[in-house]
Amino acid sequence: MSGKNREFQIFVKPVGAHCNLRCSYCYYLGKKNLFSGEDYSVMSDEILEKYIVQHIQASTGKVINFTWHGGEPLLAGIDFYRKVISLQLKHQPAGPHRK
Ligand code: SF4
Repeated sequence: MSGKNREFQIFVKPVGAHCNLRCSYCYYLGKKNLFSGEDYSVMSDEILEKYIVQHIQASTGKVINFTWHGGEPLLAGIDFYRKVISLQLKHQPAGPHRK
C-alpha cells in the first residue's frame, strides 16, 4: 500500500462510557470507573475542534467520514451535533472535499 491513500475509520465516543445502549458484548462501559468523581460529561469544545481539524488533516480520500459512537445518537445533545457540523464546515478543505 502506498502512503498516498490511507483510509481509516475512527469511532468517537463524545459521551465517554456513559452510553445508554447497554449492549451485552460491550467492552467499554467499564471504562467509566477510570473517571471516578466525574459526572456525566460531553467532549469539550476544545477537544472537539482539535479532533475535527486533525481528522480532516489526516484524511486523504475525497470523502471525509466522521463516526460518532456510544449511545443513543442525541445523548450528547442536539447542540453538540450542531457544533460538530459548524466546525466541520469551518475546517473543511477547499477542493474535492467540498460539495
Ligand atoms: S453502543 Fe458501544 S459503548 Fe454503547 S453499550 Fe454498545 S458497545 Fe458499549
